Amino acid sequence: MIERAKTRQIKVGDVKIGAFAPVSIQSMTKCDTSDVKAVVAETKRLEDAGCDIVRVAVKDINDARAVKDIKKKVRIPVVCDIHFNYRLALESIKNGADKVRLNPGNMRNKEEVTEVVKAAKKRGIPIRVGLNSGSIFARLPSRTTYHDVDLSSALVGSALAYIKIFEELDFRDIIISLKASDVATTVEAYRKMARLSYYPLHLGVTASGSYDSGIVKSSVGIGALLLDGIGDTIRVSLTADPVEEVIAAKRILSSVGLRRFGPEIISCPTCGRCQVNLGEIVKQLEREVARSPGRQVARSMKIAVMGCEVNGPGEAKEADLGIAFGKGSGMIFKKGKIIKKVAVENAVKELLKRL
Ligand code: SF4
Repeated sequence: MIERAKTRQIKVGDVKIGAFAPVSIQSMTKCDTSDVKAVVAETKRLEDAGCDIVRVAVKDINDARAVKDIKKKVRIPVVCDIHFNYRLALESIKNGADKVRLNPGNMRNKEEVTEVVKAAKKRGIPIRVGLNSGSIFARLPSRTTYHDVDLSSALVGSALAYIKIFEELDFRDIIISLKASDVATTVEAYRKMARLSYYPLHLGVTASGSYDSGIVKSSVGIGALLLDGIGDTIRVSLTADPVEEVIAAKRILSSVGLRRFGPEIISCPTCGRCQVNLGEIVKQLEREVARSPGRQVARSMKIAVMGCEVNGPGEAKEADLGIAFGKGSGMIFKKGKIIKKVAVENAVKELLKRL
């Protein structure tokens, strides 16, 4: 059982973050933000996939102004990602942003940050202080080079120093992220921050590489922290379709048992005893379950798909429902007890009937 760290609660649109609220899933659109039609279409796909909050890159004034129209057409809260130019943050806030993300690495002028904080306070929206390895500015010990510095402490120190500006203005609707590109530093930084502050944490491993290595790095990093009870919202960064980020995030959250989005499907790795294409059957079942109207009701169920009748039912005894295949047919079992024999081609349909 995960014992979650208690953090302050903030709200991004209607989505609560922190203080034991369900860990929310975030993603980011990849098209030009001023192309409202494209952003809305991408966001709708993210909404359908189960994304809770979407972020858009605001690189110029046109992007900031586009937020107004985007907001009218999407259901989930919209976060504006700002670098270098505080005026873009002000314009985004004016146009209805539900949260802005500032990078302390390139927005350090105190007067400018103060203006953004005041505008956010007036509109009642939170700010994410989003650091990555390029955002470090805390004073480093003398004769230290960037390569031998304790990167995780430097990230935490920089975030805390930056947040002081916010606290001096009595602004506490803050979310923090500390994304390094290597997993160990990221995990270390978040663990340190969780000990030192009560602000909600946005978890992620940045620049995590290709789709495959990105999924592994994010699962290890985000998963380790969630199991520690750390983290209030997550984004899996992938060099891929953002919908893949949402699917991966859902899988991470259900793997650690923090959220369930449908029944859990387990399958055996197969061996020489298996006489069907189990991989294909599992994929088909996953696809169908994701679309099945019964998936919400069956959220707490575990479904096992096993490669042989000899060991399958025994190996998957703890499953609520399962199937174990022989040659050309499968035995459906409930809590380890066989209830029906079905043809391989009907297996998925028969399982779905019992959700
Ligand atoms: S359930 Fe059967 S096919 Fe699957 S790994 Fe075990 S023994 Fe092999």
